[in-house]
Amino acid sequence: ARDRSAGPSSVATHCPYCALQCGTRLDRGDATTDATTDTTTNAAAPVTTTAAVTVTAAVTVRPDPGFPVNRGGLCQKGWTAPALLDTADRLRTPLLRGADGELRPVDWDTALDAVAAALLRLRAAHGPDAVAVFGGGGLTNEKAYLLGKFARVTLGTSQIDYNGRFCMSSAAAAGNAAFGLDRGLPFPVTDLGAADTVLLAGANPAETMPPLMRHLDRADLIVIDPRRTRTAELAALHLQPEPGTDLALALGLLHLTVAGGHADKEYLAARTSGFDDAWRHAAAWWPERVEQVTGVPVAAQREAVALLARASRAYVLTGRGAEQHSKGTDTAAAFVNLALALGLPGREGSGYGCLTGQGNGQGGREHGQKADQLPGYRQITDPAARAHVAAVWGVDPDALPGPGRSAYELLDALGTDGGPRALLVFGANPVVSAPNAGHVTRRLGALDLLVVADFVPSETARIADVVLPVAQWAEEDGTLTNLEGRILRRRRLLDPPPGVRDDLWVLRALAARLGDDPARYPVDAERAFDELRRASRGGPADYSGVSYRRLDAGEALHWPCPETPGRRPAHPGTPRLFLDRFAHPDGRARFAAVEHRPPAERPDERWPLYATTGRVLAQYQSGAQTRRVAELNAAAPEAHVEIHPDTARRAGLEDGDLARITSARGSTRARVRLDPALRTDTVFLPFHFPGTGRANLLTGDALDPRSRMPEFKVSAVRVDRWEEP
Ligand code: SF4
Repeated sequence: ARDRSAGPSSVATHCPYCALQCGTRLDRGDATTDATTDTTTNAAAPVTTTAAVTVTAAVTVRPDPGFPVNRGGLCQKGWTAPALLDTADRLRTPLLRGADGELRPVDWDTALDAVAAALLRLRAAHGPDAVAVFGGGGLTNEKAYLLGKFARVTLGTSQIDYNGRFCMSSAAAAGNAAFGLDRGLPFPVTDLGAADTVLLAGANPAETMPPLMRHLDRADLIVIDPRRTRTAELAALHLQPEPGTDLALALGLLHLTVAGGHADKEYLAARTSGFDDAWRHAAAWWPERVEQVTGVPVAAQREAVALLARASRAYVLTGRGAEQHSKGTDTAAAFVNLALALGLPGREGSGYGCLTGQGNGQGGREHGQKADQLPGYRQITDPAARAHVAAVWGVDPDALPGPGRSAYELLDALGTDGGPRALLVFGANPVVSAPNAGHVTRRLGALDLLVVADFVPSETARIADVVLPVAQWAEEDGTLTNLEGRILRRRRLLDPPPGVRDDLWVLRALAARLGDDPARYPVDAERAFDELRRASRGGPADYSGVSYRRLDAGEALHWPCPETPGRRPAHPGTPRLFLDRFAHPDGRARFAAVEHRPPAERPDERWPLYATTGRVLAQYQSGAQTRRVAELNAAAPEAHVEIHPDTARRAGLEDGDLARITSARGSTRARVRLDPALRTDTVFLPFHFPGTGRANLLTGDALDPRSRMPEFKVSAVRVDRWEEP
């Protein structure tokens, strides 16, 4: 029973899910409009536009027509988001595992006292790095910021990273190297609407963020994907490479661009450096060799370059398909090289960008919950950055820990000699979403203490020692930063249910019990944001000029947005980066000298197929939220495996059968879905499902040497019939 008496009757806010952060209006009351199907952009990208949908008796959602990113549309997940507020198994009280192994309800004091006592004991016995923190790309900026501060100041640990490492870290590393600064899209989403050609490398927005397609309906799309996705169905050209060969394809497209005389020589001379070194590698990637390695026909390669070359406005965009590899940084860099050769980045109406996935994947990486970074997107090893942030935090810079382990390495070290003995998880579900999930689950089980803060009993919460029930999107204030670097206000419509607390309150309460000054941790989101602004001042992601007042007045503010004391008007933010210069000291963008290499494992006699993983429209990330929404669960109720009919026949499988997919790490169970458009050497599994349906039971632990991104997109597997054990 929700108390509807408190709070506003209507708020403008944003969808709780992906990085598009579609604008919505939420209303309390009994509005009853129920349109769910009407205008669609096209059959393959279902985006409804009309009226409002009542999902629960208490809360209705409708698109905010004034927000330019979703242009009045929402996808199925956005429309049904209010159902999250009333899930039957919503966590409403802390849970503590007893000596008998059962999780039982306790009051907050009991739960927090138990957590603090265990943390103090482990820290005293093993040192501060015995305690680790794992954050999430869905946390608000305020939470991400205070979580990083809590780890480094109160816990004194270097062991903090977040699940965004599994999302966009390769593109971030490539963007930082190329441009001196990484912002997913260094231009507003709306700029895409005027493009003539858009190359999408490993991105499927028609399914993962359908309203984005409204900005792509004018462009010729070139889609690079081993699968014939919904986006590929809309494309002018679909290139279907062998999994793990996107880098070779990007080198080949650069080769054809230069050899065909399409490189922008004036731009190369004026705005870039390092072309010759990059070209030395690309020169060897003749189209025939590219076809041999990738399977993409020479004619299709040529057509792709022709579409890019004749466009007066063009974009190259990468997604997880190109980035989630043990060579993901080099692959993203190879696509940046292609964009640079064509003279696209830093030109209004053209560019390179990464389609960030998680709701606050962008902001989450800027405020200090990443192992190697401090707020303002600063390097934790930079003495000036340490001095600045330490001054804001009121601590000695020498007392701040250095860089810690990356996300997978941290999970892999849990409970080992010298590894963390306790883990605090905020807003993540690594039991389902981490690679090599069976191994990660065993490592979580080896901990002395696992604490999970969440609003539903996720698979990770179910194995925790302490579960802390926290508020969710429509119950909290804060900010998020969407994929175009625009800072957005999340607004509270409802009070959380009794017994539920905000994450900021949890950090403050824990700090007090750990002997730190609780005043370091504001519980008011605006106060937390004001401190974040100061901590970010002067950094690459400078938020110092952004305020709740300006956001609430409707200003569209993209970082960097520095404070300009005494100057009016205030800084307008930076919707378009790099128009005059790139962020390197010489103002130039840098080509990367990259070379193709095979994935960590390739099919062989024992494991004859590639498995690749991804998302479906009706589910989101680990599915902990969307699997609890009836309409979404009905649309995508269980794990499935997409497989070519010939491949299925060889394995003795028919459409609808239960298949066992096995890699060197483990087996997963999935319902067969025949797809004649899929490569015969590849199967696809969505990763949203729990238990034996976890696609990540298959994925491995090969990491990109720079971004530390795991190779989610390529595993060698075999497929046969599922036999119940
Ligand atoms: Fe929400 Fe993303 Fe769907 Fe928009 S596209 S409604 S932000 S899940």
